[in-house]
Amino acid sequence: MFCSIIKGDIPSTKVYEDETVFAFKDINPVAPVHILIVPKNHLSSVNDVTEENSAVIAHIYEVAAKLAKEMGIAESGYRVVSNCGKDAGQTVFHLHFHLLGGKVLKLEMC
Ligand code: AMP
Repeated sequence: MFCSIIKGDIPSTKVYEDETVFAFKDINPVAPVHILIVPKNHLSSVNDVTEENSAVIAHIYEVAAKLAKEMGIAESGYRVVSNCGKDAGQTVFHLHFHLLGGKVLKLEMC
């Protein structure tokens, strides 16, 4: 489904895009800043990360740091998290990283 968002077939509020990464606002935010950062190449979850494709993960963290600064949460603090599989509550099986901030985050928050 996030492949359709990246292609523009499903609308989203894009906040960042480059050759390998797409970032957009979560449709159901649980914090004042709630952005999803997604690799353009389809990987289902962290389970699909290998030596061959892991460079994009480091890049996603670069993008997270840049967006956190832009959103004004770099100093107050934020969370970057990826849910993997059923027990973690993953609902969309296209690897994505939640960038969450703008309030004090409880430990159980995704
Ligand atoms: P997860 O539960 O970790 O798989 O997270 C999936 C996230 O995708 C949830 O926070 C949803 O609110 C979000 N989401 C699902 N569909 C869309 C969409 N069309 N646009 C933006 N965010 C979405």
